[in-house]
Amino acid sequence: MDTNILKEALYYKKLESKKVRCELCPHRCIIENGKIGICNVRKNIDGSLYSLVYGKVSAIAMDPIEKKPLFHFHPGTWIFSISTVGCNLKCKHCQNWEISQATIDNLPLRHMSPEDVVKLALEEGSSGIAWTYNEPTIWFEFNLETSKIAKDKGLYGVYVTNGYINEDPLKEISKYIDAMNIDVKGFTEDFYRKIVSGKLEPVLETVKRAKDLGVHVEITYLIIPTLNDNTEEIRKFSKWAFDVFGENAIVHFSRFHPDYMLSNLYETPMKTMLSAYEIAKEEGINFVYLGNVWDEKYETTYCPNCGAELIKRSGYRIEIRNLNPDGTCKVCGRKIPIIGIHQ
Ligand code: SF4
Repeated sequence: MDTNILKEALYYKKLESKKVRCELCPHRCIIENGKIGICNVRKNIDGSLYSLVYGKVSAIAMDPIEKKPLFHFHPGTWIFSISTVGCNLKCKHCQNWEISQATIDNLPLRHMSPEDVVKLALEEGSSGIAWTYNEPTIWFEFNLETSKIAKDKGLYGVYVTNGYINEDPLKEISKYIDAMNIDVKGFTEDFYRKIVSGKLEPVLETVKRAKDLGVHVEITYLIIPTLNDNTEEIRKFSKWAFDVFGENAIVHFSRFHPDYMLSNLYETPMKTMLSAYEIAKEEGINFVYLGNVWDEKYETTYCPNCGAELIKRSGYRIEIRNLNPDGTCKVCGRKIPIIGIHQ
C-alpha cells in the first residue's frame, strides 16, 4: 500500500516488534504490523499507524438538524452532513450497518480534501457541518482538519457520536465542535458488552467531559424491547442525566425498528415509550422527546415554567412560536437552553 496517499494517525504509540497501540478510543487496540483495528479503518503499516479513510467520503446530504437529533441547536435549519465507513462499536441493531460495518474495499468512496468539504458546505448554504451516519471519531484526522478550516469560515461543527473517544482527542476536537448528540445505548455494562461490543463507563465519561468542555450536548437513548427497556434501567439513566445536566438535560428516547442482526425483535411498543417519557419527567428532566413515534406532542418544546409551546414540531416541520431571539419564553420570560434561534 502506498503510504503517500494515507494519513498517519494521531494518538497512537509505537510498541516493540513493530506493533502499535491506538489511543483514539477506549478500545486502545494493540495492532500488529499489517493488521487493522476494530474500527476497520486504521492500519499498522511497518510499525506506524495510518488512517485509511482520510478524505474518503461515503455519503453527503443536507439534513434538517432535527434529524441528528438536535432540538436545541439552531432549530429549523438544515445542515451539511457527511460520513465515511467504519465504526468502533458493533451494534447488533445498527441502522447504518451498510456503511458502519463496511471497509474501504467494499463501498465506492469519493475522495475529498478538507477544503473541498468546507467549500461544498458553503455552496449548499449550510451554517455548519455534521459528522454523522457513521462514527466521526474513527476518521478523526480528517474531521479535525476540516473542522479547523470550517471554523475559520464561520461554520459550526456537529458530532453525532457513540461517545467512544478518549479524553485527549475529545479535548482537541471540542475546540472546533459546537454541538454533539451522544448515544447512550443502554445503561448496563452487560448491554454494552453483549449488544454493542463496548463499555458503558467511557461513554458516560465522554458525556460529562463534553459538557464540561462547553459543547452543547443532547443525549439519545434508543429503547430496544427486552434488551434495555426495563423501567429500572430507564430510571437509572434518567437520574444520571439529571445529575450531569440538571433540569436542563435534553433527552431523546428513540423508538427501535427491527434491523440488521436484531430483525427478530419487534418495534418498541408505544406504552414503553410513554413510560420512559414519564420516568424522565418524574426525575426532573424538562426537555424529554420521543423519536420515531411521529407524535407532535412529544416532539414539541414547551416552556417548563408556563407550559407555552416554544417550538412546535411535526416531523421535520418546525415552527418557532413563543421564543424570543435571546432564547427566553415570550410568555413568561424564562430562559430556555436553546442555541441559535432563527425566526
Ligand atoms: S479508533 Fe479504531 S483502531 Fe483506534 S482504538 Fe478505536 S477501534 Fe481501535
